[in-house]
Amino acid sequence: VDPRTPRKSSSSRSSRKSFRLDYRLEGVNILTDPIFSQRASFLQFMGPKRYRGPPCTVEQLPRIDAVLISHSHYDHLDAGSVASLNARFGGELRWFVPLGLMDWLAKMGCENVMELDWWEENCVPGHDNVTFVCTPSQHWSKRTAWDDNRSLWSSWSVLGPNHRFFFAGDTGYCPSFQEIGRRFGPFDLAAIPIGAYLPRDVMKGQHVDPEEAVQIHQDLQAKQSVAVHWGTFALAYEVGSALPLYSVNTI
Ligand SMILES: [Zn+2]
Repeated sequence: VDPRTPRKSSSSRSSRKSFRLDYRLEGVNILTDPIFSQRASFLQFMGPKRYRGPPCTVEQLPRIDAVLISHSHYDHLDAGSVASLNARFGGELRWFVPLGLMDWLAKMGCENVMELDWWEENCVPGHDNVTFVCTPSQHWSKRTAWDDNRSLWSSWSVLGPNHRFFFAGDTGYCPSFQEIGRRFGPFDLAAIPIGAYLPRDVMKGQHVDPEEAVQIHQDLQAKQSVAVHWGTFALAYEVGSALPLYSVNTI
């Protein structure tokens, strides 16, 4: 599992060492909740703006075989990014989405969509040795005024013959991570969110804090973890505060 190293960016904030969005596992190139737009909103000109620029453009990406989508929130499922990726890769790219998001992607013109319930699995054509499992998380979903929790949220476990990758999506802490660790661990690499966790009483059910992220790392029996979903969009109170490096060190 190779979290790709970043390209140099013109923005000083994004020149800090950070991981790119794409992972390579057993020859399969994977993107997780890709956002190449500047704003997380149903309008591309207003709404939460990115704190940092995207690490690269869709044109700069290598061939992408699979995109993992964790849930429908605007800061994870971005219409502009889906359209750009679909324009570049078309049906060669397989979209893995949790239950209830197939129609949305089909309306966006995506032809190769695999919609899965928790614990269901599938693979990318031509790479039968790498299994993509839709695994649980603790979150919620909403894109419009009338679709609260109408589509599922999930984490994703990607299991190759030699390497295993876990993407937590957006999640509060829950016992499911122990079960995922029992069934599929140890993972070589886990991408675990540490953003939008304050104020704690409001966010605890839906976003882990750095300590809980470390607990997930241990539950998964992950050999290495990367902290994601931090300092991208100003969605909660801790953005702009110091990087919680102690948790990274703990991991
Ligand atoms: Zn969310």
